[in-house]
Amino acid sequence: MAVAAVPPVRRGFCGGIAVLVLLAGWCAPAQGAWETRVTDGIMGTRITVELWTDDAASADKANAAVLAVMRHVDATMSTYKSDSEVSQVNARAADGPMPVSKELFDLLVTAREYSRLTDGAFDITYASVGYLYDFRKRIHPDEAHIRDALPAVNYEHVLLDGKHQTVQFSQKGVRIDLGGIAKGYAVDCGIEALRSLGITHGYVAAGGDSRMIGDRLGKPWVVGIRDPSKGEGSVIARVPLVDAAMSTSGDYERFFDEAGVRYHHIIDPHTGHSASKVRSATVIGPTAVRTDGLSKTAFVLGPDKAMEIYNRIGDVDAILVRLDGTVAYSKRMQPAAAASQTPGASR
Ligand code: ADP
Ligand code: MG
Repeated sequence: MAVAAVPPVRRGFCGGIAVLVLLAGWCAPAQGAWETRVTDGIMGTRITVELWTDDAASADKANAAVLAVMRHVDATMSTYKSDSEVSQVNARAADGPMPVSKELFDLLVTAREYSRLTDGAFDITYASVGYLYDFRKRIHPDEAHIRDALPAVNYEHVLLDGKHQTVQFSQKGVRIDLGGIAKGYAVDCGIEALRSLGITHGYVAAGGDSRMIGDRLGKPWVVGIRDPSKGEGSVIARVPLVDAAMSTSGDYERFFDEAGVRYHHIIDPHTGHSASKVRSATVIGPTAVRTDGLSKTAFVLGPDKAMEIYNRIGDVDAILVRLDGTVAYSKRMQPAAAASQTPGASR
């Protein structure tokens, strides 16, 4: 598969997209600026921070601030930690309205927004059946267990009361998991932490979710999209970005194959099976919570329906790898010739 270079994408103040002409010396950080890069393992994934500051002490402070917010999000949202707020909700919210922190409440509201935007493809109650899978141990539920668990999968079972800041499950058996949005949210929190420290050129990534402030030494940041049919390191496209966020979901992230079936970590809320209508989906947009919340959609709805949604939403772009390996681009990312033909056409 060929490596594609797509035009640089910039998010302006209004959230719109404009193709950039790169100007010499454009937005370059001051001479002698301090560059640091840290990586750490939080939320079961690799966290990367890259930034420029005037001195090493400010860089250390900024890196530490990002890692601290990542740890906080992990401690609050992880379903692997029995004392996390989300685990407490799973244990008690079917018994009655449960008060939660403003942070969690707001994220639950955001999750509901993505469920509505994606016709229910994004659904945090996928976990009501999703908990029956263990990809590391190669465990998947049988049809009878899926059938029993499936009625609890529906985002409308999560009742949110904004006045009292409570959450309640409308029936027993409902579980939530914010794994489909928490890394994007954590990246946004990391970016906010950098901004509050005055950083004007920085990059934060948690696994496949990334976001950047400004540019990288006068040039766009370049984020690769892995070729799903090949190993790590091989890419199908390199996307230049400035002041933007990008999330890639792939069926190669957490999976096992059995009897010709790939069991992987994105679950179709309608069937309880792994959602396998594309190999990978990349969404580019203004915030990482948005791109993360939308990158699961194509797996569940398929490339055509998902592309309709991405094109309709207006402030996101998408690059999808179909099952046959061809690539679909959202309207504004298509090369000029393809754009004049059908929206979502491959090349
Ligand atoms: P990563 O966790 O590496 O960021 P993704 O962004 O692709 O990967 O998100 C995959 C995660 O999303 C799964 O591990 C699971 O926690 C969650 N998830 C799976 N299916 C759904 C779904 N239909 N709706 C919302 N979240 C989902
Ligand atoms: Mg993600």
